[in-house]
Amino acid sequence: MAVVTRFAPSPTGPLHLGHAFSAILAHDMARAAGGQFLIRMEDIDHQRSRPAWADAALDDLAWLGLTWDGPVVSQQTRLPAYRAALDRLAQMGLLFGCSCTRGDIRAALAAPQEGALPFNEGPDGPVYPGTCRGKPVSDGAAIRLDLTRAVNRVRDLAFVETGPAYGGTHALQPLEMLSWVGDVVLARRDMGTSYHLSVVVDDAAQGVTHITRGEDLFDATQIHVLLQALLSLPTPIYHHHRLIRDDQGKRLAKRDDARAISKYRAEGATPADIRRMVGLTDPECPQPRA
Ligand code: GLU
Repeated sequence: MAVVTRFAPSPTGPLHLGHAFSAILAHDMARAAGGQFLIRMEDIDHQRSRPAWADAALDDLAWLGLTWDGPVVSQQTRLPAYRAALDRLAQMGLLFGCSCTRGDIRAALAAPQEGALPFNEGPDGPVYPGTCRGKPVSDGAAIRLDLTRAVNRVRDLAFVETGPAYGGTHALQPLEMLSWVGDVVLARRDMGTSYHLSVVVDDAAQGVTHITRGEDLFDATQIHVLLQALLSLPTPIYHHHRLIRDDQGKRLAKRDDARAISKYRAEGATPADIRRMVGLTDPECPQPRA
């Protein structure tokens, strides 16, 4: 199998050491296998994305010594593909329109109905209580996946994971997903898509075979594997890497400019210094499976 990896930053702030780690792992995995390394800008959030951050990210990546194949894909150009995926899921009867605000969801969770699922924090926040389930998809409303119907359509889903914490084959637990994932948003009202939908559609369209991402996305990966099955898309091999943390042990966030690659560059660090800082002298080099 030709190995295709990718790095998919959201251009909403500077790249920091955590991004460097993710990008280097994905890059080195592709290069070691004679495969391709792609870059995709996850810029569906047009309120927060800035072309200047995308340019700065590419500049940092080139400075790190990474080379990429083909043009950089912008998700803003891919909205028709996301729409087509939504249409397909709608035809399968798996979507509903949701006009709940965050406040509505909080209020519904504070006064649970009989038979409702217990309050759980899922990959996207509190698990949706199902208030709008069954409503038609309509303009100006968010679109959610009816997870109960979705998991009833799929059987025996599993994915292969090569990372240090979760390495092995993971079977999806559809019934458990009902309580800790719930009816995820597939299209936000202001975007017409969502992270989960776009990432699945684009990884498939770009032929990505190995996805390297932080272990904080392990739960999100399970949503992606479910969507791949529903949309008849291939499931890549996943590598969830350890997170790069600050001195207090907190994981780095986008706004953590203190760990921005550009700051280290300005202070005279070399790309080799950055590799050392993220522990890449330790052997955590993912080995792609053929
Ligand atoms: N845009 C996402 C991020 O920056 C990509 C993560 C992924 O799907 O691997 O966290």
